Amino acid sequence: MQIDGLSDKILNGDRRALARAITLVESSRTDHRAAAEALLQDVQRTDRQALRIGLSGTPGVGKSTFIEAFGMMLIEQGLRVAVLAVDPSSARSGGSILGDKTRMDRLAREKDAFIRPSPSRSQLGGVARHTREAVALCEAAGFDVVLIETVGVGQSETMVAQMSDLFLLLLAPAGGDELQGVKRGIMEMADMILVNKADGDLKAAATRTCADYAGALRLLRKRPQDPPGFPKAMMVSAAEGSGLDEAWGQMQSLAGWRKDEGLWADTRAAQARLWFEEEVRHALLARLNTPQAKALLNDYGTQVAGGDVTATGAAQAVLDRLAEV
Ligand code: GDP
Repeated sequence: MQIDGLSDKILNGDRRALARAITLVESSRTDHRAAAEALLQDVQRTDRQALRIGLSGTPGVGKSTFIEAFGMMLIEQGLRVAVLAVDPSSARSGGSILGDKTRMDRLAREKDAFIRPSPSRSQLGGVARHTREAVALCEAAGFDVVLIETVGVGQSETMVAQMSDLFLLLLAPAGGDELQGVKRGIMEMADMILVNKADGDLKAAATRTCADYAGALRLLRKRPQDPPGFPKAMMVSAAEGSGLDEAWGQMQSLAGWRKDEGLWADTRAAQARLWFEEEVRHALLARLNTPQAKALLNDYGTQVAGGDVTATGAAQAVLDRLAEV
């Protein structure tokens, strides 16, 4: 892949160059990885920062409708918006549903928008790295807001929250008066809960659901990153476009407060440290995946099974041997 001049084009906001660069960081080829590293390093010349917004919600709550309406609103305000998707199910099936351009066709036609489907990697760890790097590239390309969308399954929410400045949970109005099966851990990550579909016949149920969640959020442990009133629950209608402006206002005031308090930079620094440690962990595990390592494990495994060496002694011997290569 030709990467000469790619970083300049990215810094100029060229969306085709950005798409190519993301393809490069997603590649598993060793030479591509080296080029990707060089590129990521090079675009750090700029200190541009986007507002990174993580957005989660189960299929059907209205994520794509929300992103389209919200994204169009931001563009009308003169902002540039990138949308990245993390879909663990697409990693399994090899295809990608989330971020599919047809789901947000108005936004996809805007020159100030960039939409990228989920990378189809077999492991969440791989998806995490690629998404994180894609976020950095979008920031370098001058996008003001980077939305990172995920479905509410497995570990993907934690991963997205760990690369976002703000984390939003999108819900639909509940039928009854009990809270939808939202796991406590996910509630604890949310900065804002948006109850979507607050329109027509669903408005009354949305009002109840919103009040229920506002109550549940008040019961959660206070986090240092929250100003008074946060985390909060609000109602929106992505279909009608109502509440979006208010929600954006709240996001801005939350982000502004965290910046003023120095929490924004602290969080980003802590996130960078976390991802670094993840990379080390990932690389160490990859070392066990080579044919030599597997042979070594098999060899010592047989000795341990036969009672010739202790498990601990054999483990130490394997670690010593791996450190030599
Ligand atoms: P996703 O799977 O979370 O991306 O959900 P979609 O955006 O595809 O929306 C799922 C369904 O909910 C679609 O039929 C939408 O038309 C509908 N929907 C989305 N937002 C709203 C809303 O604000 N109000 C109403 N009444 N329906 C909505």
